[in-house]
Amino acid sequence: MTVKTRFAPSPTGELHLGNARIAVLNWLYAQHSGGRFVLRIEDTDVDRNLPGSEDEIIESLRRLGVDWEEGPDVGGEAGPYRQSERASLYREYADKLLKGGAAFHCYCQPDELEAKKEAAIARGARAVYDGACRHLTPDQEAGHREAGIVPAIRFTVPAEQVVVNDVIRGTIVFDPEEFGDFVIMKSDGLPTYNFAVVVDDCGMAITHVIRGVGHLANTPRQVMLYHALDVEPPTFVHVPHVLSPDGSGLSKRHGARSLREYLDEGYHPDALVNYLSLLSWSSPSGDEVLPPERLIEEIDLARLGASDVRMDPDKLEWLSGEYIRRMNPEALAERLAEHLDPESYPDRDDQRLRIARAIQERITAFGGAARFLPQFYPPDPMSWTPEALEVLQGPDASRTLAAVHKALESLGDWNADEIIAAIRAAGAEAGVKGKKLFMPVRAAVSGSTQGPELGDIFEIQGRDTCLRVIEQARAKAN
Ligand code: GLU
Repeated sequence: MTVKTRFAPSPTGELHLGNARIAVLNWLYAQHSGGRFVLRIEDTDVDRNLPGSEDEIIESLRRLGVDWEEGPDVGGEAGPYRQSERASLYREYADKLLKGGAAFHCYCQPDELEAKKEAAIARGARAVYDGACRHLTPDQEAGHREAGIVPAIRFTVPAEQVVVNDVIRGTIVFDPEEFGDFVIMKSDGLPTYNFAVVVDDCGMAITHVIRGVGHLANTPRQVMLYHALDVEPPTFVHVPHVLSPDGSGLSKRHGARSLREYLDEGYHPDALVNYLSLLSWSSPSGDEVLPPERLIEEIDLARLGASDVRMDPDKLEWLSGEYIRRMNPEALAERLAEHLDPESYPDRDDQRLRIARAIQERITAFGGAARFLPQFYPPDPMSWTPEALEVLQGPDASRTLAAVHKALESLGDWNADEIIAAIRAAGAEAGVKGKKLFMPVRAAVSGSTQGPELGDIFEIQGRDTCLRVIEQARAKAN
């Protein structure tokens, strides 16, 4: 049997990392098993749909490197892949259940149901549907219809216990009395979540349902529906919640950033996939930097943990830095172009490559390169940070810069080694060395007291700019 997994987001906003992790796990597991991965948009809760979020979800997943064999944008034989386009299928399945006696029409009105619920609560009884319409006679039904009542359809919950088998949580047994006959099709003709999911997962031949533990409470209802439809339930895998670093829920309200925000900032996509996947399991090798190929090879549902995990933004940042350091500089230069302002990132490939090499060890997200660009392409007139100005105003700074200026003016080859050697020689003549020599030089040319290798800054700036900036710095120096 071909393994088939799915990610089934509701288009109600941007993906947060908790959701993205579900997509990643399903995607990895499908590939690990040589199976297929489906993207399905669960948009039947019309009031909660947010225009644009389907496109946003698709774009973010693609930027992450996640792709699918079937989905609303790529089609597939089990489509359509938007629940809103599957109405006839839900009706077909509901009819099947009605015909087989596993479902019935319910004419109860919301106010009646509400009153019964309150009465049940007041009695200390379970507030579940009391089965009022379960055994209506054809005449009673006709009467309701004549009165203009459009019925909902409820599932007839069998009296037996419901057994849910979950890969992480083992066997969980539910008491049928907990449920009451639940609605599968509302009177407006739309399916409820539990019904739509089962119809879709059956129709799409999903073999593994990997989703958040928040859905575990729904699973027994879904299992009952599978039995009624005479279909073997899929393998369920309910993964724990991802919490924010302080242990609260991962939500926008708690400052959790969306997947798109991380991507926009330039976190390496493979680092995000790596991080999200390792929130749930670990490699037996103990390695933490696991590119997608290794994740695909090693992912093992049996290694998924059961307890909630806290998001660790520092670790994600560290991983992103690791991936950036492992890139070849050509690829990095290309990536930087997507994240840097075209006004300040050069056009020429050789210059881009130099920049990429100069900052590769220093950034943890592609966008982080922006802060170094003014050091390579200093403004005219030059500006300095307060710390840099303080260095320039230290003793001997002016004299040192004058000596360096002179040495660089007449230097033959403009390359990092020659430049640094010339600065050293000029310092020796002026009687300064080490930090006393290089700090004022760095402050002068880069405008900052920290940054990439000085040799890289000099090379990328070029001689004319360096000399101009040193000249301008001397005017500020003591
Ligand atoms: N649409 C549901 C959600 O966004 C997913 C349902 C499922 O995976 O079964 O949470």
